[in-house]
Amino acid sequence: MKTADLIRKKREGQRLSAKHIHRLVERFMAGAIPDSQMAAFLMAVFFRGMGREEATDLTLAMARSGETLDLSAIKGFKVDKHSTGGVGDTTTLVLAPLVAACGGVVAKMSGRELGHTGGTIDKLESITGFETELPMDRFVAAVNEVHAGVCAQTVELAPADKRIYALRDRTATVESIPLIAASIMSKKLAAGCDGIVLDVKTGAGAFLREEAQSLDLARLMVAIGKGAGKKVSAFITGMEQPLGYAVGNALEVKEAIATLSGGGPPDLVQLCVRLAGEMLLLCGAADSAKAGQKRAFAAIEDGSGLEKLAQMVAAQGGDRETVFHPERLPSARCILPLTAGKEGWVRQLDAMAIGRAAKELSGAADPGAKAAAGIVLAKKAGDRVQVGDLLAELHHDGDTIAAEAASRTFIEACRIADTPCQAPPLFYRHVTDGQTDEVLA
Ligand code: URA
Ligand code: CA
Repeated sequence: MKTADLIRKKREGQRLSAKHIHRLVERFMAGAIPDSQMAAFLMAVFFRGMGREEATDLTLAMARSGETLDLSAIKGFKVDKHSTGGVGDTTTLVLAPLVAACGGVVAKMSGRELGHTGGTIDKLESITGFETELPMDRFVAAVNEVHAGVCAQTVELAPADKRIYALRDRTATVESIPLIAASIMSKKLAAGCDGIVLDVKTGAGAFLREEAQSLDLARLMVAIGKGAGKKVSAFITGMEQPLGYAVGNALEVKEAIATLSGGGPPDLVQLCVRLAGEMLLLCGAADSAKAGQKRAFAAIEDGSGLEKLAQMVAAQGGDRETVFHPERLPSARCILPLTAGKEGWVRQLDAMAIGRAAKELSGAADPGAKAAAGIVLAKKAGDRVQVGDLLAELHHDGDTIAAEAASRTFIEACRIADTPCQAPPLFYRHVTDGQTDEVLA
């Protein structure tokens, strides 16, 4: 079929075969299909959508467009997690060691910061000596030794995604559920894990703000993962306000250490334990998600999760003592406290704006001081505040203009109401089979 006919077919809302979708991606990557035609195809998908099978075919074609990681040298069922991006989302740093301490194996490829959200790789690099760009053989050896490893991808996974994403960005076709699902899942499938727990965010700080859209995306990603033979389930979780209290690289490592030490913020602890329970169920280390959650809690209480983090840090060349002495992490030269100008209840802490404020602080810092910059919240949505109460501390490198700008951004992001209000929900749904889902309290 000619490319133009294929575009027309999609434009008319007809279903494309696996063969046609694979050929399209293959020929695009070989330079035989120009950007103009691919852009037209993407716009047709944007308006017409894709069925589950089509989206799965597109995902597989993209996953196979480059190298795929072969993790077969790592023993056991490799379980991964993926978050669609949040502010102050420190879960990976807690989950990888926690799941490993409970009998799972986590070999995770992580990314760098993107937009208003932070990147796990940047966070880990605030630990002295920690190597994120390990050659594959060293990564495999590290994970076989400690059952947990997090590294930056050194080979380009799913290169078709990178090229297609760049085109989407230029043609206003980013906000398409099947295209987002194929983009995320192609990279996950190429990264070689056996099971995946997806954390799809919803709310002000999320990539998709509306719950209905997050649900569509979660259902489609679960269907794609299953269609590709993986064990997968998804949670829809709230991203109205940042997760935990800390937003910033070293600050979030500190928060992850506190969480594994039993002193973590309630929302971060709840999310980590829930995701860990599901990961342990998928990999067969627990008989039920509830049993997995119990084990995860126990591994926080008895310190085995924290010890596992120390082992993971050491196996990747980092200073393991940092885990037991978090004061060794970089700290900011200056701290600007922000206090409440009126009394009431915190109604909103806009995650997107707070993510931006944290970026303003780190962006203005010297390269060596970036890791220490960020924000530590003192109040969360629903909390009571009196005049003069501390709302947050801005950690910065001495650039007072940047700190002032960030403080203005923060003050706008923090709304205080006269009447009591509740914290927004943390859990919305659990999606297990792409069709039905459990509504979570
Ligand atoms: N994240 C991705 O990796 N791809 C998208 O298309 C959107 C978010
Ligand atoms: Ca946090």
